Amino acid sequence: MKNIKDILPHRVLTEPEDLFCYGFDASSKMGRPLAVVRPVSTDEVSRAAAFAFKHGIPLVPRGAGSGMTAGAVPLKDSVIVSLEAMNRVLEIDDKNLVAVVEPGVINARLQHMLESKGLFYPPDPSSMDFCTLGGNVAENAGGPRALKYGVTKDYVLGLEIVLPDGSVLTTGVKTYKGVVGYDLTRLVVGSEGTLAFITKIFLKVLPLPEETVTLLCAFTQMDKAATAVSRIISAKIIPGALEFMDRETVRAVEDYKPFGLPGDAEALLLIEVDGPGISVPEAAEEIASICGSLGAEVKVADDVFSKQRLWEARRAISPALYRVSPSKINEDVVVPRGKIPDMLRSLRDISDRYRVKIVNFGHAGDGNIHVNIMTDRNDKEEYQRAEKAVREVFEAALALGGTISGEHGIGLTKAGYLGMELSPENIMLMKGIKKVFDPKGIMNPGKIFSAGR
Ligand SMILES: Cc1cc2nc3c(=O)[nH]c(=O)nc-3n(C[C@H](O)[C@H](O)[C@H](O)COP(=O)(O)OP(=O)(O)OC[C@H]3O[C@@H](n4cnc5c(N)ncnc54)[C@H](O)[C@@H]3O)c2cc1C
Repeated sequence: MKNIKDILPHRVLTEPEDLFCYGFDASSKMGRPLAVVRPVSTDEVSRAAAFAFKHGIPLVPRGAGSGMTAGAVPLKDSVIVSLEAMNRVLEIDDKNLVAVVEPGVINARLQHMLESKGLFYPPDPSSMDFCTLGGNVAENAGGPRALKYGVTKDYVLGLEIVLPDGSVLTTGVKTYKGVVGYDLTRLVVGSEGTLAFITKIFLKVLPLPEETVTLLCAFTQMDKAATAVSRIISAKIIPGALEFMDRETVRAVEDYKPFGLPGDAEALLLIEVDGPGISVPEAAEEIASICGSLGAEVKVADDVFSKQRLWEARRAISPALYRVSPSKINEDVVVPRGKIPDMLRSLRDISDRYRVKIVNFGHAGDGNIHVNIMTDRNDKEEYQRAEKAVREVFEAALALGGTISGEHGIGLTKAGYLGMELSPENIMLMKGIKKVFDPKGIMNPGKIFSAGR
């Protein structure tokens, strides 16, 4: 008879309070693991996996638990493998512009270390102050800078991974090029802990942009803000970030913590232009003129403190909305940039028909809209209406040529909707790939693919 503490002696937590704390993430789902394991090395991850493989114990990799789709939430009799203690920055190679990190490194910590060396790692999820790079790789996380710089997958050169049977292998390269065999790195990036444990990450980094200018543009009409986005891109300016917030979002943020955002605007665009010192002021002026011509009130953050404060306000959106509605349903659909006004119209219509408040913000530049259905789980009837609204939100995004998730992944909460976007052939092929990595189905079962489908 197996003793679960033998999975990795001295690294196992089984106290009820530990099981509670590792039972949830930033979604509203909750579970209770059988135990929590906290390895400190690849060898320990490998030994824990080999034990679980032998005894058929389901494993759930976990970073900081900030995921929005319950990817790190344990289902029945699972063991959480928390990678948070593997948190060393192993190397910053400024000659070759490569950083090597363990998975538990917090995103912002790497950002600060790189900045002090004049370097830059673009992926900047709004959770960067607390989410781990392992979680970012597993979710293929993006952030405001994705418009110009891409998402996590664009920076992962290679990985060290531990397969569910405990074997350790390295994928990809440590160079900027490499095409030997199938691209296993890309396969593992975004696999949401369903294929392997990520135990080491080889990242490409960039030189820090010479200059940044941050603008806040307040519009009286959402359509005008959307037009401004199209005109900025048509003017061949790709800002480092181009974020939008609707009126309700701004109000929730100001109630949470007064940042001085204009509460009477229908829509705000938070825009950052970055690049060589010579071209940035010119691009910022052009953006200000485009937004001004559409009736926006434009403010330029003229010192580091005001810039930081604006980005702090942006990062406060999620906590602010959770404060208003702790069980809100949060989706992150993407539509082609030019279709944002159509999507926002559909959302208004869905909100009216289902009598649920919908609050929107997101990455206007790449069409990624964070749709927040503000509902209270204790009100069963309202919650059911909200859940029905979700399906229509996805239908609307797909009808406009979009996708049901831009960065939060599928996890548990969206597994039931996978077939809305992917064909049965696609899903079958993906399941086949999973079987090769995970023949016993012990890696994060129930995530991405719903049980029995
Ligand atoms: C306030 C807030 C703002 C956010 N903003 C953004 C945003 O702008 N952009 C964005 O993309 N996301 C955002 N997110 C979602 C979330 O922070 C990211 O998805 C992040 O990448 C998750 O990292 P984590 O360390 O918390 O991972 P967890 O939540 O612990 O895990 C997420 C998934 O990754 C798997 N996993 C974790 N570590 C590993 C590993 N080492 N090996 C294998 N699998 C692993 C887990 O099994 C799970 O499926 C936000 C979340 C919050 C709460």
